Amino acid sequence: MVDAQIESRGVRNRRVLDAMRRVPRHLFVPEHEKPDAYDDYPLPIGLGQTISQPFIVAQMTELLELTGDETVLEIGTGCGYQAAVLAELAKQVLSVEIIAELADSARERLIRMGYKNIHVHAGDGNLGWPDTAPYDAIIVTAAAPRVPEALKTQLKDGGRLVIPIGEPDCTQTLVLLRKHGSKLDKTDVELVRFVPLRSSADRQ
Ligand code: SAH
Repeated sequence: MVDAQIESRGVRNRRVLDAMRRVPRHLFVPEHEKPDAYDDYPLPIGLGQTISQPFIVAQMTELLELTGDETVLEIGTGCGYQAAVLAELAKQVLSVEIIAELADSARERLIRMGYKNIHVHAGDGNLGWPDTAPYDAIIVTAAAPRVPEALKTQLKDGGRLVIPIGEPDCTQTLVLLRKHGSKLDKTDVELVRFVPLRSSADRQ
C-alpha cells in the first residue's frame, strides 16, 4: 500500500511513510471490508461514515510537519485510523467525534491496540477542544464551508491546520493554513471528497 499508492503519488516524508507501514488498517474496518483494507479508497464503517483513503491520510499528515513533540487536535475520529497514524508521529493526539457511538468504539479500539497518547472525546468539533488548547497542529477530516472560528483560535502561533473546504456532496479543496501571529497563510493543496462536518444543530 505504502510503496504503490502513497510514496509513488508524492508523499516523501520518511516518518509519515513508516507510520503508515506500522498502523494495521485492517483492524479499523468492519469484518466484511477486511479484504479491501489496503486498497486506496475510503471504505464504509457504518452509521453513514467512512475510513479515509490511505493516500489522503498520508498527505494530510505530511502537511502537519510533525516531529514528535506536538499536541495535535483531530476533528472527526471515525474509526480512529487517522488518530493512530498521528499518534505514531506526535506526543499527544486529541480527537473529537460527534457520533458518540463511533467515539466509544474508536476509543476502545485504540486502547486495545495499546495507544496511550490518544484521547477521544464525543462532541462537536466545530468548537474544537478548548481544555487542551492551543495545538501545534489541527486536522479536520470532514468538509466544512469555512474554517470554524474556534479552530483558528485554538491553533498555536506557527501551527498548521488542514481542512477540506467546500459544500457537502461536492468536490472540496484541501486547504493548509499556517498561523503567523493574527494572520493565517492559506495554501490550496488539491481537490478532495469528504463527508460533511456536521453541526450539533443537525439532526443525528
Ligand atoms: N478520521 C477518520 C475519517 C472519519 S470520516 C479516519 O481516520 O478514517 C469523518 C468523521 O467526522 C465521521 O465519523 C463524522 O461522524 C465526524 N464528524 C462530522 N461532523 C463532526 C463534528 N462537527 N465534530 C466531530 N466529528 C464530526
